[in-house]
Amino acid sequence: MIKGIKGVKDILPEETRRWRVIEETARRWADRYGFQEIRIPIFEVTTLFARSIGAATDIVEKEMYTFPDRDGTSLTLRPEGTAGTVRAFIEHNRAADPLPQKYFYIGPMFRHERPQAGRLRQFHQFGVEYFGTQDPKADVDVIALLWRFLSDLSLPDLTLEINSLGTTTDRAAYLPVLVSFLKSRAGQLCDNCQRRLETNPLRVLDCKVPGCRTATEDAPHLVSHLSPEAKGHFDDVLSTLTVLNIPFRINPRLVRGLDYYCLTAFEITSSHLGAQNAVGAGGRYDGLVELLGGPATAAVGFAAGLERIAMMLQEQRLPPPMPSVYVAAFGSEGRPAGVRLLDALRQAGLSAQSDYRATTLKGHLRQADRSGSRFAVLLGDDEATSGSAVVRNMDSKVQETVALSDLPRYFLALIKGF
Ligand code: ATP
Ligand code: MG
Repeated sequence: MIKGIKGVKDILPEETRRWRVIEETARRWADRYGFQEIRIPIFEVTTLFARSIGAATDIVEKEMYTFPDRDGTSLTLRPEGTAGTVRAFIEHNRAADPLPQKYFYIGPMFRHERPQAGRLRQFHQFGVEYFGTQDPKADVDVIALLWRFLSDLSLPDLTLEINSLGTTTDRAAYLPVLVSFLKSRAGQLCDNCQRRLETNPLRVLDCKVPGCRTATEDAPHLVSHLSPEAKGHFDDVLSTLTVLNIPFRINPRLVRGLDYYCLTAFEITSSHLGAQNAVGAGGRYDGLVELLGGPATAAVGFAAGLERIAMMLQEQRLPPPMPSVYVAAFGSEGRPAGVRLLDALRQAGLSAQSDYRATTLKGHLRQADRSGSRFAVLLGDDEATSGSAVVRNMDSKVQETVALSDLPRYFLALIKGF
């Protein structure tokens, strides 16, 4: 038997019900905030990700699915959606159109990680990118959209953590201070962080290894080294969140260890998720469009993990399945009339099924039960000839006779009541 790949999951029909709720809710909130959907390719040239995500990151160092195309070009399955969105923004010269512009995407991402609960090799993200304004209110729009979306799904115990990474200049001034602190604790850091000390020191603050956490407990905070400009931006974000009644916690250790990130960084976690507790994360990346060859364009966005959301979505948030009608047709006249009736019901917008294998009333009613249909239409030769059939309420077993041509209208009226 050929099996699926480790860390790459099938989403079976019992599960897709919850995925549809999540995706529809995501689209609804994106619409409300004026974000428009973009569909970017699943694979891109490797240099796009290497350059935008940064060479000294976990993703680029060890998590990308990279392979040579037949002509030798190195390609990579997208590990995230920002790089592709920015590439498309530049390639289609969108910066020449009026700004700001707001995009969202939903789709699969690929990272070679150790599979575990909430960590897969093919997973899905809903993400947004807001181009063309540095206004702190745009940061808040992005955060609020994520917060409202997750709250609408009634996800339990959400926490918004937020930090400021300062301007590029602030960070340049802070890095030597951080590095000299980290060097004084180098002996206590994990091997990975020893390396990060050289390549990406900010990321050390983000390390989950307990030894590193303790060692960096008293590390100097970037948020206390902010320029007036960055401080003003941060304060505006925080006060606007307060106005909107969105609770937050300032976490001075929260970093996005990439050069192009600046000012706002945030993450939403849930204590219901165990070790992989981040539901979504984002921040401002004013330098990225320019880094990838476009005109200098301020930008802010987030990406949220749909698997982790699906894990937390409670049954009561799922809509009841659409009530369906089962057509129990038999006999040489009844069967063709049944096919016509199924078609008429479906064209009227109803969900209608049958089991063509069933030849007896008993067999049909068993299938009607199994399919969870609310009603069954009993349609034999006599009914087909007389032009009316028996409608049976599968719960109450009450039956009544209705003209075949009236059935679509009859069920539409009935089902609207549910
Ligand atoms: P983590 O700290 O969990 O590795 P990350 O910083 O790598 O997260 P981002 O790149 O910011 O994550 O992606 C945003 C969101 O996408 C995460 O908060 C998470 O919900 C989800 N996510 C990231 N990697 C995976 C994965 N391998 N499997 C499932 N979901 C993931
Ligand atoms: Mg990760």
